[in-house]
Amino acid sequence: MGLVVQKYGGSSVADAEGIKRVAKRIVEAKKNGHQVVVVVSAMGDTTDELIDLAEQVSPMPAGREFDMLLTAGERISMALLAMAIKNLGHEAQSFTGSQAGVITDSVHNKARIIDVTPGRIRESLEQGNIAIVAGFQGVSQDKKDITTLGRGGSDTTAVALAAALDAEVCEIYTDVDGVFTADPRVVKKAKKIDWISFEDMLELAASGSKVLLHRCVEYARRYNIPIHVRSSFSGLQGTWVSSEPIEQGDKKVEQAIISGVAHDTSEAKITVVGVPDKPGEAAAIFRTISDAEINIDMIVQNVSAASTGLTDISFTLPKAEGRKAIDALEKNKHGIGFDSLRYDDQIGKISLVGAGMKTNPGVTADFFTALSDAGVNIELISTSEIRISVVTRADDVNEAVRAVHTAFGLDSDSDEAVVYGGTGR
Ligand code: ADP
Ligand code: ASP
Ligand code: MG
Repeated sequence: MGLVVQKYGGSSVADAEGIKRVAKRIVEAKKNGHQVVVVVSAMGDTTDELIDLAEQVSPMPAGREFDMLLTAGERISMALLAMAIKNLGHEAQSFTGSQAGVITDSVHNKARIIDVTPGRIRESLEQGNIAIVAGFQGVSQDKKDITTLGRGGSDTTAVALAAALDAEVCEIYTDVDGVFTADPRVVKKAKKIDWISFEDMLELAASGSKVLLHRCVEYARRYNIPIHVRSSFSGLQGTWVSSEPIEQGDKKVEQAIISGVAHDTSEAKITVVGVPDKPGEAAAIFRTISDAEINIDMIVQNVSAASTGLTDISFTLPKAEGRKAIDALEKNKHGIGFDSLRYDDQIGKISLVGAGMKTNPGVTADFFTALSDAGVNIELISTSEIRISVVTRADDVNEAVRAVHTAFGLDSDSDEAVVYGGTGR
């Protein structure tokens, strides 16, 4: 029996009852002979509530203090979980990210893990304890400040610890039975996926399927850590995310042509209006954005009107960074030379993901047909080898996801998708 890392998301530890339920499950794994490291998120919507609170005090809080505030959420749940485990007669010790050796760069609110030195966790395990680690947080290598890894970052903590501790598996416990062909909150007929490759899962996660965070899947692929996504509320097998298909009975699960449909309403669109159509303009705009440490997603540049020699450039980015991006561009308005900026946060993105796209040329046409049959207007398009994404009005997103899911034959025969908890926030 080896070492397992189990991660419990906020909805699994939303209240005292949830914490006690999770504690029982952890003790079971320990009783089965495993060494157990647990990564825990903040209870329920605590992180959102802390963010709301910060906004009431300051519209643009300093990154350092913001991170200090947010990490309080995970501190509460880790201590309570350790107490609940002790109450069941087992030894547990809780650790902050810093104590667990999660070392990051110093980009507040979305720090990257650059090293994991879990000496204290190993020691605690050797003493027979269950080790509980606060997810989503670390300490910066240079300044020794407390950092956070970006929303949903506990998934990344779990995989990073699993890699550093050479765990057998990283189990991600959440409020649904695994990874589905679409968000079960939107598509009741979504199907649970038994196995999905790192590549397809990466695209789904990057396209907004928040059941796993993109960086966590990236990390798992790099260190080849199998992830088992499952519900903390049921005893069912979940979804395996790994490089090779799993065996089921005496046959191997096959790679699906289409893995699923993802959606994302957390992005906004900025249009830079009246940009001179000459070399260096796009470079100046995106240099400004990257200097502000903002990641962008899709980009389109319109053809310039011949009479004016001016063009418009639109791009999408996380809503949370909208204000920062607008401020940075306004500051550089004269250097770049544009007329005005338009900000639109009523957009949504729908993506179709699947390795089969490489070899099935009809997929793109079917995708656009499904959207047009549903009366959904497309504003931006982007593609990768195994993904097509479009931006639409936010109001159209749910309808569009369901239409595409049905068009690609992904609907299950029963309403099997159960959502056990969480508010979907
Ligand atoms: P946790 O609190 O456990 O981290 P999250 O809210 O971050 O949970 O992620 C679980 C949620 O992800 C589900 O409740 C579901 O609404 C959403 N989700 C989005 N896309 C998918 C998908 N393809 N499969 C399963 N869940 C999905
Ligand atoms: N508590 C953090 C969040 O809500 C991290 C996590 O849950 O993974 O984003
Ligand atoms: Mg999550």
